[in-house]
Amino acid sequence: MAYNDFRMDNQWLPFTPNRSFAQDPRVFVAAEGMHFTTHDGRQVIDGISSLWCVGAGHNRKPINEAIKAQLDTLDYATAFNASNDKAFRAAEMIAAMAPGDLNKVLFCNSGSEAADTSLKVALAYHRARGEGHRNIFIGRERGYHGVNFGGMSVGGIPANRKVYGAALLPRVDHMRFIHDPLHPEHAGHAYIHNQQPVWNEDILLELENRILPLHDPSNVAAVIVEPVAGSAGWYIPPQGYLKRLREICDKHGILLIFDEVITGFGRLGTAFGADFYGVVPDMINFAKCVTNGVIPMGGVICSDRIYDAMMGAHGSAPGHAIEFFHGYTYSGHPVACAAAIATLELFQRENLFARAGEMGPVLGDAAHSLIKGLPNVIGIRSLGLAVAVELAPVAGLPGKRAYDVFLDCFHKGVLVRNAGDNLVFAPPYIVEKSHIETMVGTLADAIRRAA
Ligand code: PMP
Repeated sequence: MAYNDFRMDNQWLPFTPNRSFAQDPRVFVAAEGMHFTTHDGRQVIDGISSLWCVGAGHNRKPINEAIKAQLDTLDYATAFNASNDKAFRAAEMIAAMAPGDLNKVLFCNSGSEAADTSLKVALAYHRARGEGHRNIFIGRERGYHGVNFGGMSVGGIPANRKVYGAALLPRVDHMRFIHDPLHPEHAGHAYIHNQQPVWNEDILLELENRILPLHDPSNVAAVIVEPVAGSAGWYIPPQGYLKRLREICDKHGILLIFDEVITGFGRLGTAFGADFYGVVPDMINFAKCVTNGVIPMGGVICSDRIYDAMMGAHGSAPGHAIEFFHGYTYSGHPVACAAAIATLELFQRENLFARAGEMGPVLGDAAHSLIKGLPNVIGIRSLGLAVAVELAPVAGLPGKRAYDVFLDCFHKGVLVRNAGDNLVFAPPYIVEKSHIETMVGTLADAIRRAA
């Protein structure tokens, strides 16, 4: 295919420099296992599971077959005042994997929809219990919860927010980020190798000592965080951080939401980040790996306590009263649910979460040994099957160096994700040592060339 097959006349690309794309198009036409094929016939290693989605690798036949069979059986059915058999089964499987009393799955179609759904559940739950005044949300700087208004408001990536100003949700505050390179104790943790770093109390006590005193805690509805900050560039919280959030939320009747769109379904070697950290939130948001990325799906897993409160609030209402006015045309879409069932079965059959846990240190070792000390490298953080390499920003041009390195790697046959000044690998769980050597070696060469 020629370049001008990809004129920019019609497709407006998401989160992509559109104006320069046609000069250097990066277009995939096929994928298998760990590799893509590009429009010009090159093989590219998928070092980031596409967008952290393709845990089981590409073109997995059991998932494809389940989707085809579902299309031939029940292509679609309304989600309102009716449901479908696959949605019940998928919810049952997800609930069985979820920690604690997280048993009720509200389906949607993306991580962004999951974020907004979870925030609405939090408000509705408090209202159902007679605490409708609880309407403040606490997110975190550099958090990413998708691009819809709720998720963008509690999220804290400045570039995503700056155009929308006062249109963002008004009753939101943000905790400081978990990693501050200027802080003397954090600076010592630029290099994190498959461990939970330990550092001083001020980040651990951020919610308790700085944020809640600014508000009346009895007005706070929920705290929402990613267990490991993914989109910002794989920043790992200090030991005890999530546990402390849980304790403080419990003390004040605040709901704790884990956005596990990236950490859910195996990335840390466990089903959820909640399992890895041994902390059970009130809701878990998921998407991405639940269908191996093959078909859009997201959802929120809610605790029994939340569900029961919402049902109980209508205990004396007539039998047809709707308890929660929320849902999408495609909530629990039968084809997406068939894909989810097949994906979760495949994860189990091939023991892929454990494999992610085993290959994580191999990836971390390679990154730390081959990249530490290269020019402009100021940090490397690995945990689970993901690693971020942080580069010193070019003055006045944040993210530029990492973007150039991303392009260079792509041309050399490796897809890495640039996130600000970080380059991130989070490959499919089927990754082999030889892929890791190629990925990390290619990144190291590109970092040298960029210097
Ligand atoms: N939450 C988190 C933690 C994410 O990482 C993402 C996507 N990277 C989202 C929400 C948004 O998901 P989507 O792009 O499917 O809307």
